[in-house]
Amino acid sequence: MYDVVIVGGGPAGATVARLAGKFGRTLIVERREDVAADGPGRGKPCGGLLAPDAQRALAALGLGVPRDVLTGPQLFAVRALDVPTGRERHYPRAYLNVDRARFDAWLRSLVPRDVEVRRGVRVTGVRERGDGAEVQLEGRGGIEVVHARLVVGADGAGSRVRRDVFPLAPEPRRYVAIQEWFEARAAEPCYTAVFDPAVTDFYGWAIPKGDAVFVGAAVPAGAGAAARFERLVTILRRSGLRVGRSRGREGTLLSRPRRPSELVTASARVALVGEAAGFVSPSSAEGISFALESGAAFAAALAAGGVAGAAERYRSATAPLRRKVLSKALKGALLDRGLLRSLALASGIGSVPVGAAPALADPIGPTSWPTARTWGR
Ligand SMILES: Cc1cc2nc3c(=O)[nH]c(=O)nc-3n(C[C@H](O)[C@H](O)[C@H](O)COP(=O)(O)OP(=O)(O)OC[C@H]3O[C@@H](n4cnc5c(N)ncnc54)[C@H](O)[C@@H]3O)c2cc1C
Repeated sequence: MYDVVIVGGGPAGATVARLAGKFGRTLIVERREDVAADGPGRGKPCGGLLAPDAQRALAALGLGVPRDVLTGPQLFAVRALDVPTGRERHYPRAYLNVDRARFDAWLRSLVPRDVEVRRGVRVTGVRERGDGAEVQLEGRGGIEVVHARLVVGADGAGSRVRRDVFPLAPEPRRYVAIQEWFEARAAEPCYTAVFDPAVTDFYGWAIPKGDAVFVGAAVPAGAGAAARFERLVTILRRSGLRVGRSRGREGTLLSRPRRPSELVTASARVALVGEAAGFVSPSSAEGISFALESGAAFAAALAAGGVAGAAERYRSATAPLRRKVLSKALKGALLDRGLLRSLALASGIGSVPVGAAPALADPIGPTSWPTARTWGR
């Protein structure tokens, strides 16, 4: 019998394991093997940008990002493109640009040795039973059922734990996030956000990452995702993005919570942390800070009195996180109204003028590109 079984070794699960592992017999289960080299589909599909909120969460955890987790360029501007109006602005905002697979591996490397870690093992079922819960695991060795006094679902947007234990809880709206890695040796050093209702009611993005650019979009689940994504790539190319060959595409689910009932934290024996709980920004899709903060909140709840009552203490401690998600849901709903976004862009408040980009030393792809003014037309 384990005291705690953690399902998922992303930022939320690794944080729980790092901070709570010493309070009893703990197991963390992660379906992915650690990868030797990065590439599309090898780690969690993600832009890998640590926004100021994530930087603050790391500071509160007493952590600094090691050099080999960082990639480049470090980004200090968001370039917003509003396709219906053709407006474009740059806004100052400081991100840490990281390699997401290495970021997760680093967080897992901080888990204490007395926590049992099983990688390449998938959780295929969870159910509350008596004064604990049963967790079914499937790996190379076959199927096994383990028992725990408390289960922590840190298994992200498509959470198996959430589906099995909270089947009646309303699900946040689900988007399909598609991300394609393109070769690019000298991309503009900013995070481009594209707003185009013909692509999605959320947004698309381009993020320079080492010698690549990630082009991504979160599109409503359903038909036409691939065609919408192709349109985004065309818009970005027309807007001046210089990319070369594709290195491949990856995809996953992304939650976009809108209502308090979609944020599910705990029953007596099962807690949800990170995106499994619905903790992710509905306006920007930033989720790393929420994963770190909710993981730390669960560990603090455990530290405050052991397994008994931990789920209840965690539920109370996460009230500020729930309020934060809901305030961002309001912001997301306002941004979705094209008129407000277009007025904000027209006013230019908070934006910075950006000079002409320097000539590229070694561009990849066609040598002549449409000018920025013709994109999206
Ligand atoms: C395309 C995309 C881009 C994004 N870009 C950013 C960004 O730039 N910055 C940012 O802050 N946020 C970003 N987000 C959001 C962010 O990635 C998530 O909110 C964050 O990773 C949530 O952390 P988590 O630990 O809760 O879940 P996850 O990171 O999803 O981790 C869940 C872990 O559980 C494992 N798992 C899942 N199911 C099982 C199972 N049944 N058994 C065992 N293991 C399982 C998974 O393999 C995974 O490792 C992005 C999201 C997407 C989809």
